[in-house]
Amino acid sequence: MLDADFFRRWMAATAAAVDREADQLTELDSAIGDADHGSNLQRGFTAVAAVVEKDAPATPGAVLTLAGRQLISTVGGASGPLYGTLLRRTGKALGEDAEVTQEQLAQAFAAGVAAVGQLGGAQAGDKTMLDALLPAAEALALSFRGAADAARAGAEATVPLLARKGRASYLGERSIGHQDPGATSAALLVEALAGTAQD
Ligand code: ADP
Ligand code: MG
Ligand code: MG
Repeated sequence: MLDADFFRRWMAATAAAVDREADQLTELDSAIGDADHGSNLQRGFTAVAAVVEKDAPATPGAVLTLAGRQLISTVGGASGPLYGTLLRRTGKALGEDAEVTQEQLAQAFAAGVAAVGQLGGAQAGDKTMLDALLPAAEALALSFRGAADAARAGAEATVPLLARKGRASYLGERSIGHQDPGATSAALLVEALAGTAQD
């Protein structure tokens, strides 16, 4: 069973991964965006890790809703509201249980990913974070490690795609040949989840 502490550790692990990879995320965003994805998420997840530590919400659902609200208020770029919605909606779907199963998390995460699609209007293959999140949500029903692998493969598979949403879509054909920054950070989020489950 996964308790509130597990979800706090997931957020702390994500903040650490984003810190470590911030330069690379910004470099990817400099190729097909405005070179701020690393700093956007660094600011956002640093604030998330701090607030869930300080407030220590009692349930998994409350940890993720707080994290999502914090991201929305801290990150100005497209990724703030999108990741914020992912975490808030996942948290809401987890309800008020003090502990949740991996299966509950997989279902809630799928609801969160669907909400990202609704908010941003993107679909699979549009070269966005959804290209990592959708396969991860599907694989999470079976295993954490499988979800992390699926997210990473999904992020890598964005390289040949033409961007259809977000800033990268302004580049048209010139967006081809670069890995999407948001899909790359989404893989870090899911990798951090798998790492937390393994500890
Ligand atoms: P901004 O583009 O506002 O500077 P970021 O650089 O932080 O924001 O985030 C860019 C990432 O956000 C993209 O790489 C992409 O994965 C994701 N993104 C942008 N627009 C959308 C959308 N409509 N739906 C899903 N993801 C999106
Ligand atoms: Mg950007
Ligand atoms: Mg920006």
